[in-house]
Amino acid sequence: MNPTQHVLTRVDTGGKSYAAQCLCGFSSVSYNRQKAVANLYSHVIHASKPVCPTPKKKAYPNQVHAENAIRNYILRPTPGARPARAYQCPSGQHWHTTKNVARERRIA
Ligand SMILES: [Zn+2]
Ligand SMILES: [Zn+2]
Repeated sequence: MNPTQHVLTRVDTGGKSYAAQCLCGFSSVSYNRQKAVANLYSHVIHASKPVCPTPKKKAYPNQVHAENAIRNYILRPTPGARPARAYQCPSGQHWHTTKNVARERRIA
């Protein structure tokens, strides 16, 4: 699985306008070359970083960190407040933990 890359591939010139091309197919056209490139770069930044739907939640850089956090919580006997599982944020930038789980797992 290879996510779409957003990279400035080239800047085309057609008459008076400039078209900065992204690898994904997006292009930014302007009569000013610098503006075309700047718009393309702002597309790259936004496209590569989707907005996190839960910015108030604690974010972990990866699954291992999130699961370690859960493990640390489980060691603390504070029922109700423990996260139950880790999931990757829809933004794809980090991981979160959630309390939402059907039932507690019993360790024999
Ligand atoms: Zn793109
Ligand atoms: Zn997030």
